[in-house]
Amino acid sequence: MEKTFCVVGAGFSGAVVARHLASRGHRVVVVDERPHLAGNCHTERDSQTGVMVHRFGPHIFHTANARVWAYVQRFGTFRPYVNRVRAIARGQVFSLPINLATINQLFKTTLGPAQARAFIASKADHSISAPRTFREQALSMVGPELYETFFEGYTRKQWGCEPDTLPASILKRLPLRFNYDDNYFNHPYQGMPEAGYTAIVQAILAEFAHRIDIRLGARFEDMAEPFDHVFYTGPLDRFFGFRLGRLAYRTLDFERFVSPEPDYQGTAVINYCDADVPYTRIAEHKHFAPWEQAQFEQSVYFREYSRAAQPQDTPYYPIRLSGEQPLLQGYEDLARASTGVSFLGRLGTYRYLDMDVTIHEALQACDQVNSILASQGPHALPAFFTPTAP
Ligand code: FAD
Ligand code: UDP
Repeated sequence: MEKTFCVVGAGFSGAVVARHLASRGHRVVVVDERPHLAGNCHTERDSQTGVMVHRFGPHIFHTANARVWAYVQRFGTFRPYVNRVRAIARGQVFSLPINLATINQLFKTTLGPAQARAFIASKADHSISAPRTFREQALSMVGPELYETFFEGYTRKQWGCEPDTLPASILKRLPLRFNYDDNYFNHPYQGMPEAGYTAIVQAILAEFAHRIDIRLGARFEDMAEPFDHVFYTGPLDRFFGFRLGRLAYRTLDFERFVSPEPDYQGTAVINYCDADVPYTRIAEHKHFAPWEQAQFEQSVYFREYSRAAQPQDTPYYPIRLSGEQPLLQGYEDLARASTGVSFLGRLGTYRYLDMDVTIHEALQACDQVNSILASQGPHALPAFFTPTAP
């Protein structure tokens, strides 16, 4: 039987769920307080230069999940794109993630793969058998020189705290290679949507638009109408009026520049690893769309500054420090005791999720929604769906 659902947030999480519900014949209201679709993945043309910009920071689609890759391809063309990041540290330009070029350049060596592996093993701190913190993970993996050059300063700037207070998992995101492969990601599928991410989200919502009422520039808090169930992808603590306190986030400030030259830095992303440079990286967005960059005379680029999010700021990175756990637990308990609402996505579950994981979890939630609606009805939908690894 037809039900009416509310989906809070028009990012990837919300769009995937809204499409699914509408495809099953339900009515869906999608509400987002921003004036655009796609949440933090929003892309738009820069009004001055015409370059497609990733409004909330560089987004590269990468995944090992064949279902997710097939899913996104249905909604637009993904151009081949390999993320190759450069780093400026101590007056030199290096390649990241740490690979043979990085090692040979930093140590002024000409090592081959096996020699480099042995060399770095000799630098690594073997007294750390089970690294718990970011610092321990780095020292046990690459030793002090690489840690101090590439990770220590950048991580302090990015997270606003000492690397020995951060979990090891943050560094585990990065590959370490003993060859000259400088692809930033290990995933087999990687690409950039030809028309931008917002066009992909638009296409996800398009087919069943007659059953999806999209309300942009509107806050969920201001809605009075009843729904059979709400899928909420906004911040978990905000749903409960911050009644237990605020979960901590990092936010980003972007300083915009236009270069009169057609090419400012010669690549999409350069990280600035030294602690005395206040920004973490510079992204020059025309390089994210190499197939169209020749048509722009100027180039727009952004310096990225990270800082603690204040109440009025956009939340970007959830900080899941150990101190955060009791508060998070408190909100999760409140969520589980609530009825009529399910929490999804990066903000709704307060986890650092890449786009592919977000989509994977939303698709899995849809699978569960189907069987629950068919057997029990909306009242049985859980506060949190159980994600499995992609
Ligand atoms: P969001 O995109 O945040 O969408 C949630 C939406 O809910 C927002 O639009 C918000 O306005 C709306 N909302 C919240 N509360 C309310 C309310 N009460 N009323 C109305 N609307 C509300 N992932 C990758 O795979 N590759 C990358 O290269 C990559 N780079 C990133 C770079 C940065 C700087 C950041 C911060 C993230 C990056 N990510 C990347 C992660 C990616 O942004 C997320 O995976 C994705 O945005 C999560 O989608 P979502 O729908 O869960 O949340
Ligand atoms: N990092 C670093 N130096 C770099 C790049 C990354 O110290 O040049 C650290 C930093 O703490 C960052 C983490 O490694 O948060 C993971 O890097 P990634 O590029 O995945 O960062 P994100 O995508 O979160 O910005």
